[in-house]
Amino acid sequence: VKDMNYTFGVDIGGTTIKIGLFDNEYNLLDKYDITTVRNIDGSQIVIDTVNKIKEIMEDKKFSYDQLSGIGIAVPGPVKNNFIISTANINWNNFNVRESFEELFDEPVRIVSANDANSAALGEHIMMNSNSSNTVLITLGTGIGGGIIINNKILEGQTGVGGEIGHVPLDEFYNFECGCGRVGCSETVGSARGINLLVKYHLSEADGSVITTRSSAQQIFDAAKSGDEFALKIVDIYSKYLAKLSNTISVIINPETIIFGGGISKAGDFLINTNSRTLFK
Ligand SMILES: [Zn+2]
Repeated sequence: VKDMNYTFGVDIGGTTIKIGLFDNEYNLLDKYDITTVRNIDGSQIVIDTVNKIKEIMEDKKFSYDQLSGIGIAVPGPVKNNFIISTANINWNNFNVRESFEELFDEPVRIVSANDANSAALGEHIMMNSNSSNTVLITLGTGIGGGIIINNKILEGQTGVGGEIGHVPLDEFYNFECGCGRVGCSETVGSARGINLLVKYHLSEADGSVITTRSSAQQIFDAAKSGDEFALKIVDIYSKYLAKLSNTISVIINPETIIFGGGISKAGDFLINTNSRTLFK
């Protein structure tokens, strides 16, 4: 189709740069991976990404006026396309939009955001509902996510708005968080958090299949099949997750909270335990 427009979505990671080519209905047409080459000022990442995009445009035979724009997801805080610092890709005092724009031969619309916030915006758009306010909570090794208010990413003053993983949540276990504080939501609400809970309560694990090496999925599977110890861990975990959801709800009042990440694969079991512990 001649009047078809294209959009690129770029996810900059510490080891891989993922590039997706989309049509104007957000359908993924093709995807590409390139290796992240980190130099002193992170400029190689920009050069490699832009070269790859130009190559794809040539390959697919479309011109600049068929390119609607490029969205760039960055592993660090972004405020108005500007990054103060990122530890893993060396973008410091770095304007993402300008750095990419200047390497293209013609004007290109470029938007950038933090990767977790970009994921939240993506979920929000693809839900295709009438809601304007969405929260994404990603339950992985840590807790990530993002907050969409009035259809816009909540970046905050310096780009660290919506750091759901560091909501102060626990004053009992006081597990250390990667951020240097104790009791953040991800110390009890992530896969790592579940593991810390298992270690703490291990003396109660008699007769359970759960060990300190069990994955979050194994713990949820054991709980589903009635393992008492696994059920206890899942209950504690869910109580915290419910508290986190509740805290976010009373502040943001979103239409939707979406759970993503590995632990969300526990499905209805997680949601039901979450609701059950919330109203206990
Ligand atoms: Zn923290």
